[in-house]
Amino acid sequence: MNIVEFRNVDKRFAAHVVLDRVNLQICQGEVVVLIGPSGSGKSTLLRCINALEPIDGGDLLVGGLSVRAGNAIKREIRQEAGMVFQQFNLFPQMTALENVAFGPRQVRGASKAQAHAQARELLTKVGLAQHMNHYPSQLSGGQQQRVAIARALAIKPRLMLFDEPTSALDPELRQEVLRVMQALAEDGMTMVVVTHEMQFARQVGTRLIFMENGHITVDGPPAELLDNPPNQRLHDFLRHVQ
Ligand code: ADP
Ligand code: MG
Repeated sequence: MNIVEFRNVDKRFAAHVVLDRVNLQICQGEVVVLIGPSGSGKSTLLRCINALEPIDGGDLLVGGLSVRAGNAIKREIRQEAGMVFQQFNLFPQMTALENVAFGPRQVRGASKAQAHAQARELLTKVGLAQHMNHYPSQLSGGQQQRVAIARALAIKPRLMLFDEPTSALDPELRQEVLRVMQALAEDGMTMVVVTHEMQFARQVGTRLIFMENGHITVDGPPAELLDNPPNQRLHDFLRHVQ
């Protein structure tokens, strides 16, 4: 079964068409890297998958559930998809451990002991066993982003959505985040990643999608498309990000 299925999805902000009859199917285990110029609709596409943005036309199924359904289904969809943003968005007044344990306690009704045990496990997995009791302000950007990944994983999502997860980081901190994402992909997690990291796209991505003006214009195997861009616009775009 497809985990994500866009069927002729339209999304507008007032008169501005941001997604224009988008069709896209994502299967379990795919690592989709989404690229495109600023304003082409990448973040909006991710936010629609997470039922954070209502769609205006067509249908969008996540884990077989329609984002057009009622609020109870929308909440379920949000638990299917973990989201990681450019700006970490951690709770500043909570430690790393508390940040990661928060979702399971709120959303899944886990006990404090259960939630903390799972949070310790996840923070160890992202390489932060030594930093569990630190507050976000005491962590580097790369460490904060790894806490954010652990926090998204804590709700046990079926897919992970990353919106430029390394764009706010200094180059030397990007690799530690990309390595965690690579390990997650190797574990079989289904992922949609908006990024300018073309080496990640090549090494970890199973599929590369190029968006322009609310349309998917190129969709295929990363190495093939990066080595031989099928159109001039992708060619020009890659010259600027690589
Ligand atoms: P990208 O992530 O590819 O840069 P976005 O999905 O953020 O693109 O935005 C696509 C277009 O939609 C842009 O023109 C942006 O200005 C517009 N847009 C995004 N969010 C909103 C919003 N909440 N209200 C109005 N316009 C928006
Ligand atoms: Mg964006």
